[in-house]
Amino acid sequence: MAKERILSGMRPSGKLHLGNYLGALKNWVRLQEEYDCFYFIADWHALTTGYADTAQTRGWVREIAIDYLSAGLDPDKSILFIQSRVPEHAELHLLLSMLTPLSCLERIPTYKEQQQELKDRDLNTYGFLGYPLLQAADIIMYKAHWVPVGIDQVSHIEFAREVVRRFHHLYATEIFPEPQPKLTEIPKLPGLDGRKMSKSYDNVIYLSDSPKALTHKVKTMMTDPARKRRTDPGDPEVCPVFDLHRVYSPEAERQEIAQGCRTASIGCLDCKGVLIRHMQQDLQPLHERRAYYAAHPDTAMQVLIAGSERARCVAQETMAQVREAVHV
Ligand code: SF4
Repeated sequence: MAKERILSGMRPSGKLHLGNYLGALKNWVRLQEEYDCFYFIADWHALTTGYADTAQTRGWVREIAIDYLSAGLDPDKSILFIQSRVPEHAELHLLLSMLTPLSCLERIPTYKEQQQELKDRDLNTYGFLGYPLLQAADIIMYKAHWVPVGIDQVSHIEFAREVVRRFHHLYATEIFPEPQPKLTEIPKLPGLDGRKMSKSYDNVIYLSDSPKALTHKVKTMMTDPARKRRTDPGDPEVCPVFDLHRVYSPEAERQEIAQGCRTASIGCLDCKGVLIRHMQQDLQPLHERRAYYAAHPDTAMQVLIAGSERARCVAQETMAQVREAVHV
């Protein structure tokens, strides 16, 4: 039986960090075993909010290509591609824009939310309003059944389903499956200062950080602020280091650490030492692959360019059906 298809992508707006890895990439790697996966670098999407400063976009595409492969995305199992290398996405977006009511785009919650969040730039643009439609085109181009997303993106998938229904109704066809969200559980991942890990807070551990840099960052990470001296008992429940233990350390060791913290029988450096050991162990394959691709910088891009050719063949088949249905 043919495998069901999955599509997902990330914008090239900077280097990827552990939050991106645990919140998405690690899950994508697992999904490769069960599904027919298409993963892409959404460089046109980066322009919908970052159109005014594109000087670094190509550089970020290269970095993300390396991050994808370092994380374990495998071109023998998945199709890995770059959105702008498959221009059919623009054609499908254009055709869908003809039949999409403005009101449907305006009521998508992220439209207003992101305009509030990104006040430093003018997002009263045609491209920004239409980015969920570009996303719908990305998904249905490959007839994806599932889209792994966080809860905040579910409205976009529902919108893509509406677009599919409208297209089918108008052109009396059944070309596309209605995509479904595949909810990804995102572990709580604190940044180095205890706030949510985010590039905008400058508190992240990058996938490109060497094992040495990772060790240094964890050693300087904020702890329970009430634990000023080694002899002060601490509270793991309010300590961001312990949140990372929840992700990386086995249950038994975590309990020992919690007990040691509460009784001050271990110090924060001991506690961080255990965490660093587990993190390094978990990330070792990623670090090894990253060291390889960093030493062979063109290899990752070549993989993505070859993947884009494969994606384009699928996209061209879909567009032949779409043109036939729309009579253009
Ligand atoms: S011992 Fe560990 S959990 Fe306790 S305050 Fe220090 S770093 Fe945090």
